[in-house]
Amino acid sequence: MDYGMIGQIAKAKHYAEERHRVRFLAFKVSMVGDNHTHSVTYSAENGWHCSSDFFRTHGWSSHTVALERILKDMVTPVPPTERKELGAHSAIISQIEKAKKYTDEPQRVRFHSFTASFSGDNHTHTVRYEEGHWECTCNFYKSHGWCSHIIALERILGVMVTPAERSQAQ
Ligand SMILES: [Zn+2]
Repeated sequence: MDYGMIGQIAKAKHYAEERHRVRFLAFKVSMVGDNHTHSVTYSAENGWHCSSDFFRTHGWSSHTVALERILKDMVTPVPPTERKELGAHSAIISQIEKAKKYTDEPQRVRFHSFTASFSGDNHTHTVRYEEGHWECTCNFYKSHGWCSHIIALERILGVMVTPAERSQAQ
């Protein structure tokens, strides 16, 4: 392991504690609810979408609220103006209760793909993930196939992603 690699790992540790460096531009996840598995997509430009019935009528759901909390500082929540709280009070309470529970159970979340911008100490890079395949726009990634940005995101996202395969010693 050369000095460059040790430097990358040290950076990754400190980056992983500064999650505001990460901004999701888009992602697609599945989330295992108590009854069904739902698909949630996010785009910094176009906002949130969830496949649940509740989302269709309310513009938010237990799944989007849980993800907003799990990915705090890295996504823009559904704007209050788009959150509808009409209909049965009990249905709303139930969604809020579920959101609390799901927030504490990130193993329910599976990232299929994402694009995120990562503000490093010197430059901002773009990290892409697609079903376990990771890529970054930084120079270290080009020569090594992994980098501090990828390792930091693996740490931040934990059980929700498949770690990058590393052909060379980490
Ligand atoms: Zn990188």
